[in-house]
Amino acid sequence: MILDGKAVSNKILENLKNKIEENNIKANLVVILVGDNPASQVYVRNKKLTAEKIGIKSTVIELPVTTTEEELLNIIRALNNDDKVTGILVQLPLPTHIDKNKVVQVISPKKDVDGFSPENVGKLAIGLEPYYYPATPQGILMLLDEYNIPLEGVDALVIGRSNIVGRPMAQMLLKRNATVTIAHSYTKNLEEKIKTADIVVSAVGHKVVRCKMVNKNSVIVDVGIFRDSNGKLTGDVDFAVVSPSVKYITPVPGGVGPMTIASLMYNASKVYH
Ligand code: NAP
Repeated sequence: MILDGKAVSNKILENLKNKIEENNIKANLVVILVGDNPASQVYVRNKKLTAEKIGIKSTVIELPVTTTEEELLNIIRALNNDDKVTGILVQLPLPTHIDKNKVVQVISPKKDVDGFSPENVGKLAIGLEPYYYPATPQGILMLLDEYNIPLEGVDALVIGRSNIVGRPMAQMLLKRNATVTIAHSYTKNLEEKIKTADIVVSAVGHKVVRCKMVNKNSVIVDVGIFRDSNGKLTGDVDFAVVSPSVKYITPVPGGVGPMTIASLMYNASKVYH
């Protein structure tokens, strides 16, 4: 069965729109874009359009690639102190002369809608409630919950250990009482681990999950998104051959991608004062 991220995302966005309207929520998201990376420009535009569609005010601050680290940090400090701004998002990747670790340390945890600040990451790591969970893993859990896929006690395998997907995904599955294994490029016998897992979340960026590795009860969540040699968008999983052999699977595109947007909008609609 296909886990339809697009449909679930639309439903979440519709519910959020109603909630924002009914409760007169005054959310105001500021997105900062440094430089002119074309992919980032598209992502930022989409975030702004989606936010506005559901009633979240959204402003994009476009900064030239020559912006210094200190200039960017000062802009974020000013936004932290602006009561009208409820969410701050700095689009990644940043130009190489700006250290993203310094940026995430400056954003106020109460406005850190990406959930990347040390306070939010630390709270998640020690089992506390962060102000915001990172959008992609939170979106994945929203999708699994929508299909009533149980997490308690299941063997979950997370492939990839990035700060934006793999690590928080593992923490969040652990918080939901799954038994979690994290695989990465040094992992031995990955095939065996995939075969025996109840849930596999793959966030790698190249084909790692093939047909002979899965079982008929597997739930496969494909986070990867990249272009194959023919320029076609694809994921980490060999979808055509794997999908008939498993219980649930997310497509690419139309799976985790739209859920990330819905989850980010859920975060952007949260207002802390
Ligand atoms: P990343 O920073 O690129 O890291 C990739 C991870 O995969 C690393 O932890 C790496 O291990 C691991 N890895 C590489 N080769 C491997 C192999 N053969 N076996 C097992 N693990 C391996 O990851 P990311 O930023 O999380 O992105 C991963 C993919 O998800 C990309 O395609 C990205 O575009 C996509 N993505 C999609 C969304 C969405 O909303 N759909 C959101 C975020 C990311 P090491 O740590 O040992 O190097």
